[in-house]
Amino acid sequence: MKTDASAFVFYCEPISCIMEPVIVMVKIIGAGLAGVEAANYLSQKQIHVKLYEMRPNRMTPAHQTGNMAELVCSNSFRSVDEHNAVGLLKREMETIGSLVLKAASRTSVPAGSSLAVDRTLFSQDIEARIRDNPYIEVIREEVDTIDVNEPTIIAAGPLASDSLTQAITSLLEQEHLHFFDAVAPIIAFESIDMKTCYFKSRYDKGEAAYINCPMDETTYQAFYQALISAATHPVKDFENNVFEGCMPIEVMAKRGPETIRYGPLKPVGLALDPANRPHAVIQLRQDDARKSMYNIVGFQTHLTWPEQKRVIRMIPGLEQAEILRYGVMHKNTYIESPKVLNQSYQAKKYRTFFRRTDQRSRRVRRMRPPVSTRPSDGSLARGQAVETFSERNGHRRDGPLCRDTECVVQTDERQSRSSFGARREAP
Ligand SMILES: Cc1cc2nc3c(=O)[nH]c(=O)nc-3n(C[C@H](O)[C@H](O)[C@H](O)COP(=O)(O)OP(=O)(O)OC[C@H]3O[C@@H](n4cnc5c(N)ncnc54)[C@H](O)[C@@H]3O)c2cc1C
Repeated sequence: MKTDASAFVFYCEPISCIMEPVIVMVKIIGAGLAGVEAANYLSQKQIHVKLYEMRPNRMTPAHQTGNMAELVCSNSFRSVDEHNAVGLLKREMETIGSLVLKAASRTSVPAGSSLAVDRTLFSQDIEARIRDNPYIEVIREEVDTIDVNEPTIIAAGPLASDSLTQAITSLLEQEHLHFFDAVAPIIAFESIDMKTCYFKSRYDKGEAAYINCPMDETTYQAFYQALISAATHPVKDFENNVFEGCMPIEVMAKRGPETIRYGPLKPVGLALDPANRPHAVIQLRQDDARKSMYNIVGFQTHLTWPEQKRVIRMIPGLEQAEILRYGVMHKNTYIESPKVLNQSYQAKKYRTFFRRTDQRSRRVRRMRPPVSTRPSDGSLARGQAVETFSERNGHRRDGPLCRDTECVVQTDERQSRSSFGARREAP
């Protein structure tokens, strides 16, 4: 298991007991999808945020604008069907007032049962809302050091700058790891031959939003041979580690002649005439609201640009394809999360405290004693206190009784009672 650099938290101030309400200032590094979502969430809790973004002053190898929440490759957030994991996750995000999902629904483009967006409008929508949020201060600077005394969310993504990556790896005492990831080409709609291609969604789920380029067996074989023998950009030895979830099409193809027919070129559910099913189908997904650009689904590639043009133009209907953006491949940096993060994506080494303080709460901010110093019967040693918290369903977690809106806090010297709203805490 891995977690890219977008998803973890340093919250390091060794607070042992806070009896008064505190408005915490949180620093967030990176205004990508994770960073803007975290900033928006904290602002809903009246917590001030300093949101650092290095673009456009310093670009990453894949981003093309200075916009927040720029989507570097696919414009799809996948299915909205809540019977599968990605759809369910969207429903869960809605319940926390997700900024990203609201922006996605405001800027969506047709994509069958998936949620896809116009990437430019999507970024602009998010940027405007972040800019207008009085709790969020945006600072356009690269962050290259981490102050472990500041509550910090690192949301710098898989293309975190080198200096920040070094700061993270030295703090976590971990060699930074990386794999390689690729981006799919985008084609001008007006250059697609719609006499050969047709609109249809797989199994006619949702609207007929995808452009389909059907191949018979002979065409597929010629295309396949061209794809596996086409020239790629030189790859250094240590770059051979590709990400299975977003693998270059030519790498997948080299695994066998049928592999891509069971992957991105799968023809099932896409025949116009059920009696005459294509041998393979390449799909294109709408990329902008004006319907002027379509990206080739699952066609991320590391082929040289002249070779991309040659191979793409072998696809039926794309013989005259105008490629607006070529596929590219980039290094992704990640950390081994099970080793260095806890279940709340909080750095284990710097986990002294990880929580927010509810303004309504006047009391009860106590640090749980280290497990090793806690008596096995759950009672408390003299001078120690236990943080208790309410869980939405009245669950009890590690500590004295917790009900929905009320917690009882025990110390060895007294019992005190305090009411505050349900909140989530790090383990
Ligand atoms: C080439 C490539 C292709 C990908 N294709 C897909 C895909 O098709 N589908 C998919 O779901 N995911 C894809 N991903 C993964 C994709 O990056 C994530 O899904 C998504 O962007 C993660 O969001 P994030 O907020 O974590 O990171 P990002 O969106 O990358 O945001 C991180 C932000 O942090 C900023 N930043 C970095 N370092 C610093 C610093 N030191 N100081 C200040 N700011 C900094 C960056 O400029 C950026 O804006 C791809 C990634 C790459 C690299």
